[in-house]
Amino acid sequence: MTRPESPGIAVIRQIDPQLADLIAAEERRQADVIRLIASENYVSSAVLAATGSVLTNKYSEGYPGKRYYQGQQYIDGVEQLCIDRAKGLFGAEHANVQPYSGSPANLAVYLAFCEPGDTIMGMALPAGGHLTHGWNVSITGKFFRAVQYGVRKDTGRVDLDEVRELARKEKPKLLFAGGTAIPRTIDFAAYAEIAREVGAIFVADIAHIAGLVAGGAHPSPVPHADVVSSTTHKTLRGPRGGLLLSKEKHAKAIDRAVFPGLQGGPHNHTTAALAVALAEAAQPTFKDYAHQIVANARAMAAGLLERGFDLVSGGTDNHLILVDLTSKGVAGKPLAVALEAAGIVCNYNSVPFDPRKPFDPSGIRLGAAAVTSRGMKEAEMRQVAAWIDEVAQAPADAARHARIAGEVRELCARFPAPGLPA
Ligand SMILES: *Cc1c(COP(=O)(O)O)cnc(C)c1O
Repeated sequence: MTRPESPGIAVIRQIDPQLADLIAAEERRQADVIRLIASENYVSSAVLAATGSVLTNKYSEGYPGKRYYQGQQYIDGVEQLCIDRAKGLFGAEHANVQPYSGSPANLAVYLAFCEPGDTIMGMALPAGGHLTHGWNVSITGKFFRAVQYGVRKDTGRVDLDEVRELARKEKPKLLFAGGTAIPRTIDFAAYAEIAREVGAIFVADIAHIAGLVAGGAHPSPVPHADVVSSTTHKTLRGPRGGLLLSKEKHAKAIDRAVFPGLQGGPHNHTTAALAVALAEAAQPTFKDYAHQIVANARAMAAGLLERGFDLVSGGTDNHLILVDLTSKGVAGKPLAVALEAAGIVCNYNSVPFDPRKPFDPSGIRLGAAAVTSRGMKEAEMRQVAAWIDEVAQAPADAARHARIAGEVRELCARFPAPGLPA
C-alpha cells in the first residue's frame, strides 16, 4: 500500500532523494504509531507551512522597530503579532518570543537576574525537574550554586513545606517551579509566596503544560510568577521554540538577556509558526483539546492502575503519567524497546528515588498530548493501557509485539494526525 506523502517531500526529492526518503519514512512512522512521548505533539499544517516559509531567509537582530538590519517591514509585523498573541493568550504583561528553545529561554532568565556563582533553586532532575533548573551536568549547575528540591517518597509529590524550609536556609536568587516528569498540578501561588518571603525571583517553567494552561486545564502561573518560561512545541502544539512571559518591570532585563545577551537573530520562520499556533490555541476548540488531553491521560492512568501498574503519585492531573515498573519485574528501557516493537512509542525515565541508573531506569513516562491531537478519546486510551500491559507481561514475545503493532496501525488509520497526509 503506497500512501501519499507531503508535497514538500517531492520538492526535496528532486535535489536530495536520500534525505527525502528519510523524511518520508519518518512521516509514515508518525502516522502509524501511538506517540506517547510526553514532550511531543503533532502541529497543524498551517504551523508546518509557516515553519517552511521564506521567513527563514531573513536576519533581524533586535526587536520590532529597533533592528540592526534593513528590510524589516514585514518581519516586524510578524514578531509583533506573535508577541501580542502570546500576551493575549496568557494574559501576560510582557512577552519575548525569540528564545531558540526552552533551554535558551531558561538561560536568558539566569542572565537577566544572576551573576555566576549565585545561588539558585529548582527541582532535581531525577525527581522530575529539568536539566536547566540547576542539575549538575548542565551549565546551570556548573556556573551557579544550585540547590535542589525533590518529591516526598511517600506521596511522589513536591512538599512545599520542604521547599519553603530549603529556600529560607539557602536564600536563592531564582526559584524555579516546573519540570519534565511532574504528573500533578503545580501550586504556583504557594511557590510565589515562598519566593516573596526569601526575596527570590519566581520562575514558572511551563514547558510541558503550556497548552493546558492556555486551554484552562491547568491553573496559570502568570498572575503569580515574575517570569514564565516555556517551550512552544509540547502541549502548546507549536513549532520548536521558546517563550518568556514576564511582569512589565522585568521586560527590559528579559529582552536584553535574550538579545544581545544570549542570542543573535531570531528564527523568524519559527516566530511566524508560533504566531499561528497561538491563534489556534486562542480558539474555543483548543479549550476542548486541553481538557481532553487531561481526560485521556486519566483514562490511560486508570487502565494501568486496574492492571496493577504503580504510578508515581498514584495517578495524574495533567497530560503525563510516570510509571514505576519495579513491581512488574521489567525495567524501563527494555519495556520501552518492546513497546516500540508493538507500535507504542514512549521514553524510559527515572522515577523518584530510583535505585537504577538514568540510562537504565525503573520507569517509563507516558503523555497524552499527541494522541489527543489525533482525536483519540478515553476508549482508545483504555485500549492503549491494555496493550501496554500485554507487552509488559511478555517483553520478549516478538510475535505478540508484531500482532499489536498491526492493531495499532489499524487504530491509527482511523485517527489521521494533523499535518500529515491522510
Ligand atoms: C522541555 C523542557 C525544557 C527545554 O526545552 P528544549 O526546547 O528541549 O530546550 C525546559 N524546561 C522544561 C520543564 C522542559 O520540560
